[in-house]
Order: sequence, then C-alpha cells, then structure tokens
Amino acid sequence: MAVLHNRISQKELKQRLYAETEPRKTLSFYKYTVIEDPQAFRDELYKNLDQLKVFGRIYVAHEGINAQVSVPAHDYDKFRDYLYSISFLNGVRLNIAVDDDGKSFWVLKIKVRSKIVADGITDAGFDMGKKGKYVDAKSFNELTTDPETVVVDMRNHYEFEVGHFENAIEIPSDTFRDQLPMAVSMLEDKKDKNIIMYCTGGIRCEKASAWMLHNGFKNVFHLEGGIIQYANKVKEENLPNKFKGKNFVFDGRLGEAVGEEVISVCHQCGEPCDTHTNCANEGCHLLFIQCSSCAEKMDGCCSAECQTIYNMPKENQKELRKGKKNGIMVFNKSRQRMMKLRT
Ligand SMILES: [Zn+2]
Ligand SMILES: [Zn+2]
Repeated sequence: MAVLHNRISQKELKQRLYAETEPRKTLSFYKYTVIEDPQAFRDELYKNLDQLKVFGRIYVAHEGINAQVSVPAHDYDKFRDYLYSISFLNGVRLNIAVDDDGKSFWVLKIKVRSKIVADGITDAGFDMGKKGKYVDAKSFNELTTDPETVVVDMRNHYEFEVGHFENAIEIPSDTFRDQLPMAVSMLEDKKDKNIIMYCTGGIRCEKASAWMLHNGFKNVFHLEGGIIQYANKVKEENLPNKFKGKNFVFDGRLGEAVGEEVISVCHQCGEPCDTHTNCANEGCHLLFIQCSSCAEKMDGCCSAECQTIYNMPKENQKELRKGKKNGIMVFNKSRQRMMKLRT
C-alpha cells in the first residue's frame, strides 16, 4: 500500500532538507473548482507529489485547492506536467517565488478542509462558479483612470498600511470573514459602479468578487494574480505603477517594495517607515512598524512594559508567560479610526 502520510520526525526531515544539494523551486498556486471527493483527490495527489519529492502545504476542499510547495528543480517539468494532467489544473498559473533559497518546507502536508479560504459564509446558495471578471495589470490601470471605479483592498490592515493602490478603499477588519459582509454594507450605494477587488495573490479577492455578485453588485472585477502578478507585469510591460509602497508578504522578509515611496510611519516616533517587526518580548510578539532608531532605543519592543520584561532573566520571563495564551496580535489603527469617524 502506498504511504499517504509522512512518518519521519520533523527534526530528521529538516536535517535531510539541509543536507540536500539539489536546488528547489518554491511556488504557489490555487484554483476554485468543485472537487466532489476531496479526500480521494487528496490521497491521489499525495501519492504523486510524494514520488516527486515535493514539499509544502496544500489545502484541498470541496471548493478547490490552495498550495504552496517546493519542487526539486530538475523535476520541475515533471511536476508541472503532472499538475496539468489534472483537468481542472491544466494551465493553472504557477507563481514562482524569486529570492528564495528553496528551504521553506521540509515535509509534504496535504489537508482536507471545509474551505480553502475561511469565509464564514453559511448561505447554501452561494456559488463560487459565479465570480467577477479577471483584470490584468493593463486593464486594471485603464479601468482605474475612471474616477467612478471603486478599488477595494481585501487584505488586512497591516498590509494596507504599508502599501496599497491609489484611491483604494480599506475594509477595516482583521479577518476576511468579517470583511465580506462589511464590504457589502460599505459599498451598498455603489451596486451599479465598476468595482475592482484585489489582494496579495488573488485567492481572497476572487472569492470576494463572487460574494459581491451574490449580493447584487453588477460589475465586479478582481485583479488576476493579485499584487504579486501586478508588480511583475508592470516591470515586464513597462506600465505605469499605481501601487504605492510595499507589498506585505509573510515569508520572513515581511514585505517587498513595489514602488519607491514609503507611505507609512513608525508607530513609535512617527517618522516615515515601512518595516514591520514582531515585538521582541516573547510574551507579546505584537506585529507593528518600528524604525531602526526606535528599535535600538526600545530593544525591539513595542512598549516600555515589554522592554522591562525583555531585559529580565529568561527564567523570570518564562514565569510571567505561564498560563497566558497569546493569539496573533496585530497593531490595528483602523478600529480607532472608525471609532473617531463615528463620534
Ligand atoms: Zn521610530
Ligand atoms: Zn510588546
């Protein structure tokens, strides 16, 4: 019987990866499609990708597939041929990561989930088959010269803060599931306007576009391949760049400049800055923007309180963390901004 799950320890797998001399390509792809039997599809996929020594994290659901993988470079063509042999993945766009050491994954994990992007939608009539129209970088630029076109950012606040498209509207919530109903109510009086939604790689705005259509919006578009693809196309085709600032990516670099300008400020001193960091106090780990001189002054901490803890002996720090659970904490000014607007 074929092995359908990894049985080797994480530690050994990591060691094996670092011992590997064969270069790897890291890439991502997603596809919304109806998968009747996600578990059977998952097992078949696992068998084939495991044979090709593919590593990574893949989610499979009734609504489709979302994958981030690394592939041994010499078998890249085999991998692509296999993927394209699956009818609904034939020709799927593969986003290949640049500046990458190929060491981001050391095991293959394929999980069956209820959704590939958690959306909180319970409406049984919602159909991902009816989604907005794709726009590429060129038509994005053309459509947005019309001041009546509404551009909607479907990412999180901390992503929007350091970079976004000119005149884009932020949907101020921390989670995609809250953003969906919020977008509908915020744009209620714009049902007949052209609406273009975008996100980092396209997976969120594609779903959001379907949700808007489902809610009576008529002309909904979404940016194909998201900001990542837009930035590539702008370079390749020498188009005007309408994205201002930095594109936030979760890969250790915490952001990649698309344009030249810095549009955000250090949360501590207010100087122009777009460097995200996590608070150095392990019991806090807040994600926020901090300039290098504040980082030095504050030992990389978000507050004087955290700095005090950070400078305690490790034992005492551990003692303080006991029994406390931290979620993902994100500095979010949009809530405060909304409160101000209301009063
Ligand atoms: Zn500062
Ligand atoms: Zn802190």
